[in-house]
Amino acid sequence: MNSSDKPSNWYRGQGHWADVPAENWLNWKWQLKNRITKVEQLEQYLELTPDEKAACYFSNQKLALAITPYFFNLIDVNDPNCPIRRQIIPHGGEMKTAPEELLDPVGEDGDMPVKGLVHRYPDRVLFLVTDRCASYCRYCTRSRLVSNAQDYNFHPEFESGLKYIEEHPEVRDVLLSGGDPLLLSNKKLDYLLGRLKAIPHVEFVRIGSRIPIFLPQRIDEDLCEIFKKHGPIWMSIHVNHPRECTQELYQATERLSFSGVPLGNQSVLLKGVNDDPDVMKSLVHRLLMMRVRPYYLYQCDLITGSRHLRADVRKGIEIIQHLRGHTTGYAVPQFVIDAPGGGGKVPINPDYVEEITDDEVIMRNFEGRQYRYPLVAGRKAVNIDAAPTPEPLLV
Ligand SMILES: *Cc1c(COP(=O)(O)O)cnc(C)c1O
Ligand code: SF4
Repeated sequence: MNSSDKPSNWYRGQGHWADVPAENWLNWKWQLKNRITKVEQLEQYLELTPDEKAACYFSNQKLALAITPYFFNLIDVNDPNCPIRRQIIPHGGEMKTAPEELLDPVGEDGDMPVKGLVHRYPDRVLFLVTDRCASYCRYCTRSRLVSNAQDYNFHPEFESGLKYIEEHPEVRDVLLSGGDPLLLSNKKLDYLLGRLKAIPHVEFVRIGSRIPIFLPQRIDEDLCEIFKKHGPIWMSIHVNHPRECTQELYQATERLSFSGVPLGNQSVLLKGVNDDPDVMKSLVHRLLMMRVRPYYLYQCDLITGSRHLRADVRKGIEIIQHLRGHTTGYAVPQFVIDAPGGGGKVPINPDYVEEITDDEVIMRNFEGRQYRYPLVAGRKAVNIDAAPTPEPLLV
């Protein structure tokens, strides 16, 4: 996937569902109605391992199994370690809870002034508007409430969230999430976005959604009209692996961009999916071709049953090092850990600063060469004049 990686070569088509009339395939309601939700359906297309099969039955009590036909096509059914499969088909590891794992790994419940609204940072809120998704990611950080398989009993309540935002003038940025907000009907979205736009101190709204990836058919003209009407709306999509960048996703992101919706991407660092510098590089290049700016790379939260998917933090740092300077600056996401217990997102960076003294900053560039930048206060003129041009030092 180098110079020839053009969108016109990306995956497209109906795959296993080649016989379905195109008008059905392109209809998002058909895609939702025909989701794979049962072991028997899965087994029509691939061979489950005994562990996967047990985990599928277990999913009823944890996080529902659902995969749109569109997204299922991206699985390589002959590869038990397929990176798409690992994200979406239950794995035996889900049935085991490691000691470090938590039901509410980033402590959201402790920062909810009203149910479904997380107010952690001074000027912005996270508003959970639904518990449903088009397909369910096995590592979902909100497994406790998403798909309603556990006893959390989440019932999204718009009015109390809206009232809280109206009464808090410090909230200038509202981030809609869930579940997936784009599963709401156009009527509900229009209402919700209209209410938010009417609040004088809300400067803009963001939507976090994986619908473009699971169900690009949902990004139709009617939806885009709603975004145009209520903008500025920004969107964070969630792509983890380059194979998720299909021609259908390309078209969906194009419709969003042309409707004035700036796009960012959030990836989760997942073992056996994208914990590889070359895979990530190919992903971020594809994102830029779709006008999507890589925003965050998340260390996988300590969600129950996720150990098999959690990569080493040092691998995340290595990936950033492999990107920074080696490719377009726009392509480099910020690697973060959402601090367990409710500390919020903490940036985790490779260390380029070696030392800061009263006189200078000693640093290394992307190639590992050492450079010095003088801190000039007072003696500056003398020092600068006296200083020879720094020689790059190889490590
Ligand atoms: C991630 C998050 C936000 C948004 O954070 P940004 O860094 O501004 O994207 C807001 N609230 C909560 C609770 C979050 O987890
Ligand atoms: S789309 Fe988002 S909210 Fe839904 S299951 Fe995946 S990670 Fe969780």
